[in-house]
Amino acid sequence: MPLFSRRPSASAPFALGLAGGPARGGSPARLIFLATFWMVALGNWPLWEQLARLPELANWRGVAFGLAFAVIIGGGIALLLALLAWRFALKPALTLFLLAAAFGAYFMHTYGVVIDRSMMVNTLSTDSREVRDLLSWRMALVVGVLGLLPAVAVWRARLAWPGWPRQLLRNLGLALLSLALAVGALMLVFQDFASVMRNHTQLRYLINPLNSFYALATLVWEPGKRERGPVQPLGEDARLPALPPGAKPPLVVLVLGETARADHFALNGYPRPTTPELEKLGVASLRNVWSCGTNTAASVPCMFSPLSRGDFENRKTDTEGLADVLQRAGYAVLWIDNQAGGCKGVCQRVPTVRYHELNAPGLCSDGECFDEVMLHGLQARIDQLPAERRARGVVVFMHQMGSHGPAYYKRTPPQFKRFMPECASNALQQCGRQEVVNAFDNTILYTDHFLASVIGWLQQHEDHWAPAMSYASDHGESLGENGLYLHGLPYGIAPDEQKRPAWITWLSPGFQAETGITTACVQAKQDEEFSHDNYFHSMLGLLGVQTRVHEAPLDIFASCRKPR
Ligand SMILES: [Zn+2]
Repeated sequence: MPLFSRRPSASAPFALGLAGGPARGGSPARLIFLATFWMVALGNWPLWEQLARLPELANWRGVAFGLAFAVIIGGGIALLLALLAWRFALKPALTLFLLAAAFGAYFMHTYGVVIDRSMMVNTLSTDSREVRDLLSWRMALVVGVLGLLPAVAVWRARLAWPGWPRQLLRNLGLALLSLALAVGALMLVFQDFASVMRNHTQLRYLINPLNSFYALATLVWEPGKRERGPVQPLGEDARLPALPPGAKPPLVVLVLGETARADHFALNGYPRPTTPELEKLGVASLRNVWSCGTNTAASVPCMFSPLSRGDFENRKTDTEGLADVLQRAGYAVLWIDNQAGGCKGVCQRVPTVRYHELNAPGLCSDGECFDEVMLHGLQARIDQLPAERRARGVVVFMHQMGSHGPAYYKRTPPQFKRFMPECASNALQQCGRQEVVNAFDNTILYTDHFLASVIGWLQQHEDHWAPAMSYASDHGESLGENGLYLHGLPYGIAPDEQKRPAWITWLSPGFQAETGITTACVQAKQDEEFSHDNYFHSMLGLLGVQTRVHEAPLDIFASCRKPR
């Protein structure tokens, strides 16, 4: 008996075990069963791989557990599909499920990532340029075989639809059956299931494609409580004390780094010479810093907020951030962004130069520029800021492309490809681990050069200004440790490599003299434990902003500053 039939004349090049059949049309339930089987068996390959690696499941009981797990997932998928099994809805729904499962399987398998809410935020805020970085022939092949091929088979299947009352009954029957199977399987292995899921929380984010749907659903329903309504003002009392007679106003560049993990900086003890230029410039480098999130969209708004990581996650309203408070205090503020993904909202209310406005000969190609482009024409951009603000001081934010992966090799000009051979692919698992590390280290070497160039630019302005630079990265990166790549794992289960960003400070002699904050005082804190919770308060402290929202205990410069 055929599982379902196709057009008698059509010849499917890839039969899902479907022999040709009578012209009558097959049952939607059978199509659901086949598609579900396909997604459970192949779309969940990354999950089965991880389960197979668990030592507690390396026995017959583990095999039974795996089978029960498969039935639970299959029951869940079939339950959803049963509710969508209507004449004009089933095929689009199946297509969506199959494609989501195929993309999910590819990313989870290739990069060792999992799909959760914050990964979904990241995905949805990804722009076309970042997408291009991810495309590969391997992805086309995987998505083609896992998603497109079965989707085509779905569309070619001819289905027999009864009247709606009967279809409703059938759908309810199928839904109940799916639910019963899932619950029954769960009960059979409940003890093992509870302990495995408790000990390996990441597994739940591998259940494909339900992980994508779940993440999307929480995004649609949960932020409504918070992100609606106007952005609340912050630090309305912010002010700058008058400069003492003869003092020079601060000229400060705050570099927001990308994906730069602290332990790959030679300054922090990395055995490779990745920071030759900064080492000669007398900077202070903190090497025990914990990030607020494991991806840009989570970390950057949190860094710029006065709230701690926990309070930020549970915030009820959105408020302004660091850039707003600096501007309100009276500084001339400018944000320059070399990331197509933008500033994640933290630069909304200050003058901004977006990446597509940046251009400089020799630094840009293919719509993307190396980070040095942000120094190009900088003086002219600053000169356009209001003069009365400039008289009080200038703060320029520079948002780097930095070490953005997976195409690390695209982030470095040829002369900075010093660690070779480097991985020149975005499918990192196809490269040797050392090649991935080489490509990443080259991006750190280039960031070293970029930061040294920023300092060089600042040094040219010491006659009339008190210059300083603070560089902080948003999060770290996995480079193949335990088979993990990139970043963005849920904070609780992410490895330390993803949570240890670099934070480097350079202070000109003039700046040190005026504020009393010396490089030596900051450098003495090198191994003290800090986090992005300190960032907002430290930057206000560095820039001498007086406001109620500045919490001195979180300001790492507070103990270095001379009392005014
Ligand atoms: Zn980032």
